[in-house]
Amino acid sequence: MKMLSRQIIPVGTYAANCIVVWNDDGCLIVDPGQDAADILAFLTERALTPKAILLTHGHFDHIGGIPGIIAKFPGLPVYAHPSDAPMFGHPMNQYPPDYPPIGKPPSLLDIRDAANEFPGLEFEVLETPGHTPGSVCLKFGSLLLSGDTLFAGSCGRTDFPGGSMAAMRRSLATLAELPPETEVVPGHGASTTIGQEVATNPFMEK
Ligand SMILES: [Zn+2]
Ligand SMILES: [Zn+2]
Repeated sequence: MKMLSRQIIPVGTYAANCIVVWNDDGCLIVDPGQDAADILAFLTERALTPKAILLTHGHFDHIGGIPGIIAKFPGLPVYAHPSDAPMFGHPMNQYPPDYPPIGKPPSLLDIRDAANEFPGLEFEVLETPGHTPGSVCLKFGSLLLSGDTLFAGSCGRTDFPGGSMAAMRRSLATLAELPPETEVVPGHGASTTIGQEVATNPFMEK
């Protein structure tokens, strides 16, 4: 994979990290949680055309920008884990007026099939249930996009519908086995590394 650039754009009331990753071979948008106009402005500024939207999970604060982006790029595929697909349009997964309901995108595909769909932008999909049943982490080389599974110093809540602390512990144990130098950009808050989290995060026992 060619050198990957990335931009973190905090979006929405809950400041979810939307992450745009790109290189000469293309561009992907991860977790466009809200503020589609800000994300689109960034793409325009860098003359980037996205190939797809990828979701770490289906929560309202990670999907709210999807309709605005698809309006600009019709037919853009959205990849998510099928276990989180029922969250689209679900009455529990919306908080109007800040987060109006988001229906199922017209082109919703299984993120487990996306790893090699974009030549030059290969990534690994790590299934990490716990925060939601369909939570995944996306690993682009030494960059891990951890969604709401792993945060700097903490981990995602497991008390939402479909959450499981037992599954979260197993998922975090899997992440703890990654190389310590792996850079982590979580779904909210500051970036960190696997080594830092294994050393200091009370939820992350190796
Ligand atoms: Zn979440
Ligand atoms: Zn979130």
